[in-house]
Amino acid sequence: MDVDEVVTVVSAEIEKRSPEFLEFAADMIKVPSFNPPGNYEKIAPLVVERLASFGLQAKEIITPPELVAQAGFEFPRRNVLATLPGASPKNKAVLMVHLDTVPVEDESLWEHEPFSGKFDDGRLWGRGACDCKGRLACFALALGAIKSAGVVLQGDAVLAATADEEIGGELGAGYLAAQGELDCDFCIVEGFINQMFHGYGGSLSAQITTIGKSAHTAVPWRGVNAIEKMQEVLRAVGQAQIELESRPSVDKEMRFSTLNIGTISGGSKSTIVPDRCAIEIDGRLATEDHPDFVIELLRKKLSKASLDNPDLIFEMEINKKEEAYVSDPDSDLVNCLQESIRLIGMPTVPVTMSRGGSDMKYMIARGIPCVAYGPGHRPNSNIHGVNENIALADFVNCAKATAVTLINLLGIT
Ligand SMILES: [Zn+2]
Repeated sequence: MDVDEVVTVVSAEIEKRSPEFLEFAADMIKVPSFNPPGNYEKIAPLVVERLASFGLQAKEIITPPELVAQAGFEFPRRNVLATLPGASPKNKAVLMVHLDTVPVEDESLWEHEPFSGKFDDGRLWGRGACDCKGRLACFALALGAIKSAGVVLQGDAVLAATADEEIGGELGAGYLAAQGELDCDFCIVEGFINQMFHGYGGSLSAQITTIGKSAHTAVPWRGVNAIEKMQEVLRAVGQAQIELESRPSVDKEMRFSTLNIGTISGGSKSTIVPDRCAIEIDGRLATEDHPDFVIELLRKKLSKASLDNPDLIFEMEINKKEEAYVSDPDSDLVNCLQESIRLIGMPTVPVTMSRGGSDMKYMIARGIPCVAYGPGHRPNSNIHGVNENIALADFVNCAKATAVTLINLLGIT
């Protein structure tokens, strides 16, 4: 068979077998694996068993317990790798998904019970229906259909379903990547069907505390009100934000760097002049803005505020900072994926950076060409929100585009 015939055969196989794999996605939704706490005791064995039943060589890799203990987690971190072996170990592709989901905050807001895995209105519903159980099953369908269609790829295709993506992935993809388990020629990371991401912007997490002096409210002039002083800090953060907005990113999706003041706390009683007030800031940074630049900008605005207000004493703590990570938007991988999307009769999609984050960082750090793509629509799938869902048509189309990309990039025998 030539490549065109193979694509036709595999596409037909994907359509034929999609109900089985959608059922697999629904079964995963019925086994909650939200994180925190990140309990993989039920989901990991289920995924291994089902991937093996689809003819993949599936195994678990458990993150060393000492690393998990160091991080202070209760449950073991379990990862699943499933390989569709190629004819030669010449090249290798990784399809990257994860086993954990975000929690469900208020079940009563959901139209279909979030762990029921219900099919309705051409969609599968539930927590993880898209992120990432639907995506896991979709990539599994791509591999399973290649195998059952009797097509042999030149290189290995590996489905990596890792732990802890929703909390940063250090003990999941981070651990596996550091062990070299995920080294490959290219990697498709879970993503959306209507937008590809070739990287993620940087981020910043900071806490700013104003320090006052407590006093009885009968004699407030003997104290310094830390909550009142926080007003100056809020203004300074606002000025930093204005300056960041004057530096738009070349990437439209990124817009500009943003500093979100997410929490504020201070004071204990209305009859006491408060001596402490604290805010927490989450920064999402444009590719062009290094975290150190943004921290410096904040410091400058805050120092200026304290010059103008001698009573203003503050402390700024940087809890976390992460640089942007970027893969080539014009790589063979991206171009081949676009071509595959076109080939299955779908419109090609924009390739941008993302303001979120993902396990892609561990792959980019090892120099592996990456792109985020997958079933589920942004924003219709409403990942992390109520009524998360995946359209069955997206599931099938994405499995096809992924399979065609593997066929073209890894080659066939
Ligand atoms: Zn997620």
